[in-house]
Amino acid sequence: MSASSIRPEYEAVGEDVLSASTMIAARLHAVGSPMQLDELPLPAPRPLDVLVRVRACGVVPNLSNVLAHASHILPELCQPKLPAIYGLDAVGEIAAIGEQVHGIEVGTRVYVNPGRSCGSCAQCRRGNTNACQDYALQGYFACRPEARQTLDDYPYGGLGQYLTAPVSAMVPIPDNVTFDQAARFGYLGTMYSALLKANAGPGTTILVNGISGTLGIGGALLGLAMGVDRIYGTGRDRALLERVKGIAQDRIEVFSLADGSIARWVRRRVDEGVDAHIDCMGPGADPVTFADAMRALRRGGISVNIGAIGNAVPIDLHSMMDNGITLHGSGWFTTDEAVRMAALAATGALDMSIFKTQGYPLSKVNEAISGTAKRDGGFSNFVVRPDQI
Ligand SMILES: [Zn+2]
Repeated sequence: MSASSIRPEYEAVGEDVLSASTMIAARLHAVGSPMQLDELPLPAPRPLDVLVRVRACGVVPNLSNVLAHASHILPELCQPKLPAIYGLDAVGEIAAIGEQVHGIEVGTRVYVNPGRSCGSCAQCRRGNTNACQDYALQGYFACRPEARQTLDDYPYGGLGQYLTAPVSAMVPIPDNVTFDQAARFGYLGTMYSALLKANAGPGTTILVNGISGTLGIGGALLGLAMGVDRIYGTGRDRALLERVKGIAQDRIEVFSLADGSIARWVRRRVDEGVDAHIDCMGPGADPVTFADAMRALRRGGISVNIGAIGNAVPIDLHSMMDNGITLHGSGWFTTDEAVRMAALAATGALDMSIFKTQGYPLSKVNEAISGTAKRDGGFSNFVVRPDQI
C-alpha cells in the first residue's frame, strides 16, 4: 500500500500495522476443499471506505452449508469469486480511513455490517437498502446474480486480518460489549429487524418458532430487551428449551414441537393469540410447524420469517385475509437497526452474557466451521480470531 493512499491517522494504530504491507487471510480455493492461509497485499480503503483490523469473526452454522453446496440449494445464489475470503460477522478496530471519511476515528471498535448495496437505485435512494437489486452480504453471498459487482467490489470477508468496507456499514461497539460478543450481532440484528417489523415491545406477546437455535435465541434476548410482555418459544431439544426458559423464568414459556400443535399450546395461554410470530426454522425443518405457528396469531397479527425453511409452507391465505394477518420475509438488517440494537447492549437491556465463546486461531478456521455441527444450540458462539495465526 502506498503511503499516499492513507491518512496520517493510520499511524495511530501502532507500529505493527504501519509496517505491514501484507496480511494473512483464510481463503477457499475450490468448493468442497478446506480453506488455506494465504499472504495477500493489505487492502487500501477507497475514499468512502475504512480499513478494519479484524479481531474476531463470527462463524454461523450455515457457513458450512454455503461453502459446500449453497448453489444447489439456491441456483440464483451469487458467491464470492474463488479464491475467496469468507466471513460474515467481522468485528475489530478501524485501522485507516479513506480520504472522504469523517465522523469516525481510527481505533474505534466496530462491528462491520456485511450488507452492501449500490447506493444509486430507487430503493437505495429511499433508504430501503436491503431491497437493492444488487444487495449482497460481504464475505458470504448474494441472492441474485445482479449483485456480482457488489461482491467483487468488497472481496474481503472477516476470515482475514484486515478488510475494507464502506464507512456507512460501521456499527460502533459499546465499551461493555466484547469483540467475541459483538461477533453475534449478525443473527441478533436479523432478529432485531424482525421484531421491529412485528411491532414488538411493551404490551405485546411474541412466538419464536425455533427459539433455542443460533438465530432464535435472539428472540429471547431481544424480546426481553425490547420490553415484550411474554415470549413463547418452540424447539426440539427439551434440555435446551429449559435453559432458554431459565434466561427469564417469569417471561419465557417453552414448548417442544414433539408435543403437538403450537397454535393449541399458545391459545391455551393467551386466548386471542399472540401479536407476533418470528420463524427461525432452517432448511430441514417441517414446513407444517410454520403454518401451525401462524395460526397462533391474533387477528391483525404479524408473522416474520427469518429462517431458510427449505420446503413450501401450506399457508391458509383465506384465513389470513379473514383475520388481517401479515407475513414478512426478512433476511438481514440495516446499519441503523444494528446501531440501535448496540444501544440496547450499551444500557445492559440486551444481555449477551449467556453466550459461551469457542475461539479459534485463523489456522484452525476449518475446525471452527465444522465445529458448529456440535454446538450447544444458540448458546454457543464460534469465533475465529485472525490476530492469532
Ligand atoms: Zn441499490
